[in-house]
Amino acid sequence: MKMLNSVKLTFASRSVNEGFARAVVAAFLVPLDPTVPQMADLKTAVSEAVTNCIVHAYPDSIGPVTLTAALYEGGLVRITVSDRGVGIADVEQAMQPMYTTGNPEERAGLGFAVMQSFMDKVKVSSTPGRGTRVTLSKRLDSK
Ligand code: ATP
Ligand code: MG
Repeated sequence: MKMLNSVKLTFASRSVNEGFARAVVAAFLVPLDPTVPQMADLKTAVSEAVTNCIVHAYPDSIGPVTLTAALYEGGLVRITVSDRGVGIADVEQAMQPMYTTGNPEERAGLGFAVMQSFMDKVKVSSTPGRGTRVTLSKRLDSK
């Protein structure tokens, strides 16, 4: 599959950068001329992945979050969000709807479920103590 374009950036795990990541993804997608719902789906999925890095990966500190976005022939968009934080011991369990290790008054445990519902494919790879990478894929073909 031929890659047509790609970007990569690393930012600090500060909540202000959630909006920054959303804006970067939106700008990257503009040449594809996505529909408003397609754009909203991708931005929401990226927000959830970035928020997880901010809240969970670096619970008591600030660390690097790396976002890559790539466009392939046929309208396939692939976005990765990775951190070097605490990692996830059991990815399958973490991805269950309503599973959270966060404060239950603030967290619904639905971030991964939201990503899965808005994207064609969500892949999570993680090593405890080393970090986590979330890969989000979606095909944006004809409107
Ligand atoms: P919500 O997203 O609804 O606010 P949540 O963040 O707890 O709640 P998910 O986004 O589905 O729910 O994540 C589930 C759990 O997976 C988290 O509670 C956390 O334990 C773990 N997790 C997710 N992303 C990361 C990450 N980048 N690093 C470490 N742990 C993570
Ligand atoms: Mg979350």
